[in-house]
Amino acid sequence: MKSTIEYIERVSNGSVDIKKETEEVLSNLDSLNDKYHYLGAISTGLARELSNNVSIKPKGRLAGVYVSVKDCIAVKGVETRSSSRILSGYKPVFNATVINKIISEGAIIIGKTTQDEFGFGSFSTNTGIGIKQPVNPFDIQRAAGGSSGGSAGMAQVADFPHISLGESTGGSIASPASFCGVVGLTPTYGLVSRYGLLDYANSMDKIGPIGKTVEDCALMLSIIAGHDEKDSTSYNPANSKEKSDDGSKNIDYTKNIDRPISGMKIGIVKESLGEGVDESIKNKVNECASDLKAQGAIIEEISLAVPSEYALPSYYIIAVCEASTNLAKYCGMRYGKHESLKGNFNEYFTKVRSKHFGQEAKRRIILGTFARMAGFRDAYYLKALKVRTVIINEYKKAFKNVDALLTPTMPVLPPRFDEIKNLSVLQNYMMDVLTVGPNLAGLPHINIPYGMIDGLPVGVMLSGDHFCEEKLLNVAFNIEKNAP
Ligand code: GLN
Repeated sequence: MKSTIEYIERVSNGSVDIKKETEEVLSNLDSLNDKYHYLGAISTGLARELSNNVSIKPKGRLAGVYVSVKDCIAVKGVETRSSSRILSGYKPVFNATVINKIISEGAIIIGKTTQDEFGFGSFSTNTGIGIKQPVNPFDIQRAAGGSSGGSAGMAQVADFPHISLGESTGGSIASPASFCGVVGLTPTYGLVSRYGLLDYANSMDKIGPIGKTVEDCALMLSIIAGHDEKDSTSYNPANSKEKSDDGSKNIDYTKNIDRPISGMKIGIVKESLGEGVDESIKNKVNECASDLKAQGAIIEEISLAVPSEYALPSYYIIAVCEASTNLAKYCGMRYGKHESLKGNFNEYFTKVRSKHFGQEAKRRIILGTFARMAGFRDAYYLKALKVRTVIINEYKKAFKNVDALLTPTMPVLPPRFDEIKNLSVLQNYMMDVLTVGPNLAGLPHINIPYGMIDGLPVGVMLSGDHFCEEKLLNVAFNIEKNAP
């Protein structure tokens, strides 16, 4: 397939019959979805409206590109439920900032992608009650990864120009990208507006692109990045002491992507190649390091002991604490599911939530509420926040010496659904061992497909310092170009 950028050029100079093409894309989505369950809602009406707009005015940096959107991102008039039954029927009356941005650049939104309910999971097996789980594009008996499983699967199977918008709190872009053999970029926390994102854990949620190539992700980032007054945690370079650029103009992340990387320093994280990671995956990471070396990069082994040991427990405490408060608003009064009004508020609230939240959502509400209770708050939540600061400092120290860190993305190949059923809750959480560190520290990171083992994709992960997406994409591009 030609590059997305070439396709956009063809759309822009009027050589694509976009309305006809959109009908073709839409006509195949149902059968695709019957097989893989990547879309919880197909937005036929909106796709037609947007393609009509593009046919009248074929302009914009995403002109005619089809975009699927993780279900936790608000799209006006399209059912948006974070793959939870409790939000069935909820159609936002506004667009998330990222949605307004992509629409104004000519994107055509085709639907909402399935995910773990509210982002709670690593395999997309925790979809809400009644919502089908997305399956792996290479073997439908296996998981697509999570929680942005539908987005990554869609990125793999789409045979039309397509980029998905995913979301990561603790690894939900990298994990499914790895399992589905596509590129997934999680930007620095605050670089992309969270306005219109259904919160999981506010201090860690990030929206980011999932696509077939590093360039596609760079293109999408160029459009969605930037300060937003509607999000109080949105990064405003004008106020920053660090001032990496003048802050006013948007960066084109595709521009310098293909520069040679000779002389760059890449740190291989020693602990990420330790126990619990499949040997075949470690070999791929070493192969990737050799290639980087052959391209002139300097490879250094580096130890990140604190993140390797404490990122997982502190992540899960912070995540469940924040999630449990965020979910309080789903009480059957304002959004989504309602029941007949009987009893007092507590009785009604309990009835709605017991009936419509899935098991993992309930578990996290209970864990989070417990950890925030008077008497436990200091011991758990506040302690975890302090550990997070130590972890950030350790990464910051590492980035004084290296330009990027290389690790595997996932410790295992995509598991079968029957294997996942046998995992304990803790074993489930352990799957995030390699992705939670950068997420907790708000660092940008990217999964790059690196060949196959037994017919299943393997991914390597690069992490960079805050707001160093350009450099990260540059290295990622050079990995991708020689990847097996
Ligand atoms: N697997 C992690 C969790 O369950 C990460 C999920 C995410 O990034 N949304 O919390």
